[in-house]
Amino acid sequence: MYKVLSKHNVRCTSLFLQRLQSTLVVAEHNNEKLTPITLNAITAAKRLGGEVFCLVAGTNCSKVAEEVCKVQGVQKVLVAQHDAYKGFLPEELTPLLLASQKQFNFTHICAGASAFGKSILPRLAAKLDVAPVSDVTEIKSPDTFVRPIYAGNALCTVKCKSKVKVFTVRGTSFEASPTNGGSASIETVTTDSTVGLSEWLEQNLTKSDRPELTSAKVVVSGGRGLKSGENFKLLYDLADQLQAAVGASRAAVDAGFVPNDMQVGQTGKIVAPELYIAVGISGAIQHLAGMKDSKTIVAINKDPEAPIFQVADYGLVADLFKVVPEMTEQLKKK
Ligand SMILES: Cc1cc2nc3c(=O)[nH]c(=O)nc-3n(C[C@H](O)[C@H](O)[C@H](O)COP(=O)(O)OP(=O)(O)OC[C@H]3O[C@@H](n4cnc5c(N)ncnc54)[C@H](O)[C@@H]3O)c2cc1C
Repeated sequence: MYKVLSKHNVRCTSLFLQRLQSTLVVAEHNNEKLTPITLNAITAAKRLGGEVFCLVAGTNCSKVAEEVCKVQGVQKVLVAQHDAYKGFLPEELTPLLLASQKQFNFTHICAGASAFGKSILPRLAAKLDVAPVSDVTEIKSPDTFVRPIYAGNALCTVKCKSKVKVFTVRGTSFEASPTNGGSASIETVTTDSTVGLSEWLEQNLTKSDRPELTSAKVVVSGGRGLKSGENFKLLYDLADQLQAAVGASRAAVDAGFVPNDMQVGQTGKIVAPELYIAVGISGAIQHLAGMKDSKTIVAINKDPEAPIFQVADYGLVADLFKVVPEMTEQLKKK
């Protein structure tokens, strides 16, 4: 026999189910500061309803834990400090996540879809024997998510039936949760032993005074049209006037003009700044996949048929070697 529920009952049932939910957001940080994408992941977690927990694991991360306590919408911060968490290796962090899951029985576990989240959550999902959902751009309901497929050319709505939903969040699709107004409590979590499968030795990060590519408000990107690495100086000069980050197409990276951490696109970084200026970039779908959600897109290309003009809000059909220095000079006068 079927029971017919009124709209009111359906709403009450869904509110009740939401209250039973709890989401763990795995915080990304460098032991000093929280990485901005965690704030986007917290917003996604809040959309699910229920409680939001945040795990801060590192070698000496109490400062970060205090920062997370103030983030709006976080109810509890779980802190784990151990030398084994040096380098945030998935091999060491996964047992900690499993222990936390055993203790708190979360309905959802998520992280930003950055290199950090993409390295840890699939391992966790495998250990929990569930299928992870990657790069979520919208939350329809606690078990239904939207994610891009085919380099962003199609959106796929996925219903996840696993008991615990493990997913990564595309940072550009959710606004950052405010960093003040929260008053989460702190609880220490541990695991019995460390794994010792791998050891973090060192990392060499490019030092730059420019904003970080994925969180910059303005991005100037160059493509094969720049013709050499030296010519990227034109873009650095323009970027300095705009306090912008500098990105690149894969063709520019493959040609050795710039390092691959500057690549924007399907196999590079996903950006959605206020202003994206594409210089000497044709606009292949794989490049668009990484920047088409930018608020305003400006394209500079000498070919009026270049596909980039189809997504651009402003297009300049011109020789970049002429107009980019002119733009920089005009900005210097301001
Ligand atoms: C699986 C896969 C993944 C990929 N992932 C990515 C990715 O993440 N990111 C990415 O960018 N690409 C990616 N690609 C590559 C992508 O398909 C394109 O090859 C690449 O984006 C082209 O880069 P480009 O626009 O710089 O070069 P081109 O397509 O060669 O375009 C150069 C442009 O510069 C213009 N130009 C030349 N000289 C001047 C001048 N003097 N002034 C003004 N304009 C000028 C030309 O008109 C042309 O439009 C991927 C490809 C595959 C198959």
